[in-house]
Amino acid sequence: PEALDAARAEGRPALSFEFFPPRDEAGERVLWQAVRRVETVRPDFVSVTYGAGGGTQDRTVRATQRIARESSLAPVAHLTCVGRTTAQLRQVIGAYADSGVRSVLALRGDPPGGPGTPWERTPGGLDRAIELVELVAGLGTFAVGVAAFPDGHPESTSGAHDARVLALKARAGARFAITQFFFDPDAYVRMVDAVAAQGVDLPVLPGIMPVTNLRQVERFAQLSGTPLPADLVARLEAVRDDPAAVRRVGIEAATLLCERLLAAGAPGLHFYTLNSSTATLEVCADLGLAGARTTVG
Ligand code: FAD
Repeated sequence: PEALDAARAEGRPALSFEFFPPRDEAGERVLWQAVRRVETVRPDFVSVTYGAGGGTQDRTVRATQRIARESSLAPVAHLTCVGRTTAQLRQVIGAYADSGVRSVLALRGDPPGGPGTPWERTPGGLDRAIELVELVAGLGTFAVGVAAFPDGHPESTSGAHDARVLALKARAGARFAITQFFFDPDAYVRMVDAVAAQGVDLPVLPGIMPVTNLRQVERFAQLSGTPLPADLVARLEAVRDDPAAVRRVGIEAATLLCERLLAAGAPGLHFYTLNSSTATLEVCADLGLAGARTTVG
């Protein structure tokens, strides 16, 4: 997004937060509490994930539009190839443009049959993220972002393959990438180096998930194929009956990971908030990053 360019020009790390669309009115209130708290640290952008089913996809569009309209935050809208024809995708993109959304994260989406099942294209729709990149970038009004996988995409054969795919997406018009969550800074550095070796300049924002609940992160890690470091698991297990101590360990580990990534040249940090901003804001405060943005919009 433009905001990423601004951070780059100002020589400071970009800061962004990811939300998911609320399921009901109670969820809407929780999301908006998080939105209001996140506003206080003035991130460069926030993003809203796109669901797999038609109902949740509509909720994504509404939540993203509401953030564009009613908050000071610049939303990046996630969009996938799942469940819509190309014509329907064009309509969603048009609705985003009409509500002031300037940036789209173009994704394929997970196989509709669930993780581990083969990918199937929606009839009349698109087969790969790169086709959605071309569709959105071709309109000329959006900064297009894409997904990156420091620990490898579950369907991918090698890191070199993932780097080639990212370079192809950059050549198709992607301006930035955001990674899956991960814990090993070396995996990020290897991936960024492999992409640079392909001759493209693609800023890759590392995705950070502060761990506040061991069982939950174990489930996410299994779904995404992200290895959990044994030493972090051991430290969390050691205090498993003390939720405050688990949080402390998780926040410390996330802060250290962020410090290492920024020292290694990461252009910023993208936080998976799970719609609860508390842990993320603590990490930002520990890093001295709160209130970094100087421009509005
Ligand atoms: P693609 O780039 O199409 O890649 C899919 C597979 O095909 C990969 O294994 C890739 O290596 C391979 N491939 C791609 N191009 C080629 C090629 N030219 N030749 C050979 N092989 C190729 N999912 C959601 O449903 N909603 C969301 O909001 C969402 N947000 C996400 C945000 C981030 C930051 C990330 C990292 C992931 C997100 N996902 C989301 C998950 C994502 O949709 C899945 O990981 C999906 O399985 C892959 O999406 P992709 O965009 O990388 O697909």
